[in-house]
Amino acid sequence: MSETTPDRSGPDERAVPGRGEEAQVIVVGAGPAGSAAAFHLARAGVDVLLLEKSRFPREKVCGDGLTPRAVYQLIRMGVDISAPGWTRSRGMRWIAGDHRVHIDWPSLGRYPDFGLSRSRHDFDDILARHAVAAGARLRTEVKVTGPLTDRSGRVTGVTATTGTKESLTFRAPLVVAADGASARLALALGLQRDSRRQIATAARRYYRSPDRSREEYLELWADLRFPDSDHYLPGYGWIFPMGDGRVNVGLGALPHRRHGKADLRAALDRWLSRTPHAWGLREENAEGPVRSAALPLGFNRHPLYTRGLLLVGDSGGMISPWNGEGIGQAMEAGEVAAETATLALALPRGPGRERVLHGYPVEMNRRWGRYYRLGNTAADLVFGRSGFQPVLNRYVMGSPFLLNALARLLTNLTDRPSRDLTDHLLNGVMRVVPEPQVRRVR
Ligand SMILES: Cc1cc2nc3c(=O)[nH]c(=O)nc-3n(C[C@H](O)[C@H](O)[C@H](O)COP(=O)(O)OP(=O)(O)OC[C@H]3O[C@@H](n4cnc5c(N)ncnc54)[C@H](O)[C@@H]3O)c2cc1C
Repeated sequence: MSETTPDRSGPDERAVPGRGEEAQVIVVGAGPAGSAAAFHLARAGVDVLLLEKSRFPREKVCGDGLTPRAVYQLIRMGVDISAPGWTRSRGMRWIAGDHRVHIDWPSLGRYPDFGLSRSRHDFDDILARHAVAAGARLRTEVKVTGPLTDRSGRVTGVTATTGTKESLTFRAPLVVAADGASARLALALGLQRDSRRQIATAARRYYRSPDRSREEYLELWADLRFPDSDHYLPGYGWIFPMGDGRVNVGLGALPHRRHGKADLRAALDRWLSRTPHAWGLREENAEGPVRSAALPLGFNRHPLYTRGLLLVGDSGGMISPWNGEGIGQAMEAGEVAAETATLALALPRGPGRERVLHGYPVEMNRRWGRYYRLGNTAADLVFGRSGFQPVLNRYVMGSPFLLNALARLLTNLTDRPSRDLTDHLLNGVMRVVPEPQVRRVR
């Protein structure tokens, strides 16, 4: 089956038989986190049910940009990224004031040296179908309404409704919550977000812009301002090529410490009126409305495992506080959750299995704990005040080494063990950041 012209008649996709189903693992939400988790579980021979409230293909508000770490996750899943529809990027172009610099993605031992963009309309559909091809059972138009629990409070499945408002019950010893920023399942178990962590918001719109659509760089603007003052916006703007005659244009910002939340729509208008007319980023070339959504950053929900429920992707607040990127993170966490669940299911129910499951937050903390802790601090002290202005100053913009190091810091691209001076520098900095404690509740 081709990835670009998917066959929608598969028997597995729509019908929900009887009053529900059973599986070894239920995954709620077929975004990048859920589809990656379901794919890796199915590949490991686990019987997995993937429940999604929408019907594919569907829109998802996003910038559609993938850095090399996200591409690496796609390659690990065997997604055919040479098929038509994927647009490659060779690096980032940063614009701040009069400065304009190009930073190519680094050549590393572990990660590819290119990025990609693809609309989430197609991307999520491809990933969900990839999970199905690996053996996952996908049920769309099934809205999960809450967890099912036993007397001890342990999750034993979920309740859901279908498009026809039929109530259903799905049972499994393990549930993966990949339901995005709404985090409905986590909240139902009392897992509130950490109010000390910042929540960014971002808005995007597509424009027809045939020239810019074939750009080789992901373009980022660091000098955006509030719509009604000259204060710098604590965030950045992007123009990402879609390769199909369109660009994805948007901006994301933290709430400013003194000026609060910006009106993103007005800030977008102010910014785009500065761009050359020939680029076409004007109302008459816009496709669809400006749409915005929240970005839960920097591990803002804990614990990532409790009582049979694993949180993955935005539901666990896994967006990088360094750059607002969350697709690759969602896929990577999906893989780790799947590995953990597969190991746990190989053991009988009981303390041994629980120990394995509690290893999931430990592994996520090992991977990103220090990096996110430093990123959260940078978001509080620097990005939340003046965006990227202080770090993209003229000294940094004028130094290829510093620029490269900054770009690799923002996108978490190092080799371990270190292979070059930048690796030594960045890995050395991370080593001195104290590792956050993993909070464990029953
Ligand atoms: C404007 C904007 C721009 C962004 N740009 C980028 C970018 O360029 N690159 C990047 O890497 N990240 C970007 N992000 C972040 C990225 O979109 C998210 O981090 C990513 O989508 C997280 O994936 P997820 O699978 O955890 O959640 P989601 O993608 O939100 O998927 C959750 C899924 O669960 C389903 N669902 C929700 N509730 C239920 C329910 N009750 N029952 C059944 N199904 C349910 C939803 O329909 C959805 O399909 C951006 C975010 C925003 C808002």
